[in-house]
Amino acid sequence: MNLAIDLERVISEIDALSAFSDAEPPAVTRIVFTLTDLKARAWMKARCEQAGLAVRVDAVGNTFARWIGSDPAAPVVGTGSHIDAIPNAGKYDGVVGVLGGLEAIRALQRAGFRPKHSIELLVFTSEEPTRFGVGCLGSRLLSGSLSPEDAEKLTDSQGASLDQARRQAGMTGDLDQVRLLNGYHKAFVELHIEQGPLLEQQGKSLGLVERIAAPASLRVHVEGTGGHAGAVLMSQRQDALCAAAELILAVEQAARSSGSVDTVATVGICDVFPGAVNSIPSKVYFTVDVRDTDLQRRDRVLRVLNEACRQTSARRQVAVQAELLNADAPADCATAIVGALSQACKKHGFSFLPMTSRAYHDSLFISRIAPVAMLFIPCRNGYSHRPDEYASPEDIGKGTLVLAEALATLSCA
Ligand SMILES: [Zn+2]
Repeated sequence: MNLAIDLERVISEIDALSAFSDAEPPAVTRIVFTLTDLKARAWMKARCEQAGLAVRVDAVGNTFARWIGSDPAAPVVGTGSHIDAIPNAGKYDGVVGVLGGLEAIRALQRAGFRPKHSIELLVFTSEEPTRFGVGCLGSRLLSGSLSPEDAEKLTDSQGASLDQARRQAGMTGDLDQVRLLNGYHKAFVELHIEQGPLLEQQGKSLGLVERIAAPASLRVHVEGTGGHAGAVLMSQRQDALCAAAELILAVEQAARSSGSVDTVATVGICDVFPGAVNSIPSKVYFTVDVRDTDLQRRDRVLRVLNEACRQTSARRQVAVQAELLNADAPADCATAIVGALSQACKKHGFSFLPMTSRAYHDSLFISRIAPVAMLFIPCRNGYSHRPDEYASPEDIGKGTLVLAEALATLSCA
């Protein structure tokens, strides 16, 4: 089989999709279920139909475009990503996996390939948490990681519920129907830009993801006693910020001493009340984000934090409340899929790097119900989620070709 990627077409499609945006070019803003998002979806659907794919849209807007195989009842081989974009983002995040996936299918069609298993492009709804505060909304529902009841409770900053927003967007089906049956996918492989600098630094063409790290996030409230910064003696204080500072350093220390570079922990928000130069902080709110590729190691950091909360609270006489918001498990990629990808790289002489995905993607949730893997292409300086995000046509072409080869391998047996 002689596979050829129509690179000019993919690049022009990436440009065309970037025009559906609520930001000035080159920035892209495309928030789920806005008019702009709906126009982009319609454009995408038409592209899939032009390729002869059977398109269905589920109740939350996940879009499936299927090339029906010679055994239509067999589990499908899936590929895809997302087309929503955070405010002021670039044009490659997610989009490369969707349009690259579509081109991989078209390349196989042009080469005269006939899949046994259907090959299906999946465009996930709301990978970005911008509107409803939860990332990977579509894939969480598909995999049962988020219940329809909990999804219905989600609201945006204007008070619109997910249910209202999706119905207004024309997706009126029952959210109970979104979940995919176990065994729906034989394999799922997501092409994505790396969003980090490693491939570029090491001069490798492609990254083969072997594991996907997962975050746990917490909100921590510390309540002490406020007072005048001059009048209250040090021995009399219950300073909420000093207590929070101990906890923040405890989180850092726990991550640093985990024994693995894969453990990372971040306090990204810290609000101090009342926030005056001459007032002892009485309340502090901060967030904690802990990520790892190993669940035990990650959860050890959470236990260290909980113990530090207990001790600091007792010693400093402040109230500490740590609320766990989510704790998704990391995922290992399927060796059979990673093997198909590395075979394809070798066949075409493309260098590759086995790697960890430190950001999480829809594939993390699909891994709960299917064997998954991810294929990364380099992005300049590791920049992502910003207007100057860039992946070269050459790398997009390589990624799309390797994806097409792997889809062929996975769908014929
Ligand atoms: Zn993405």
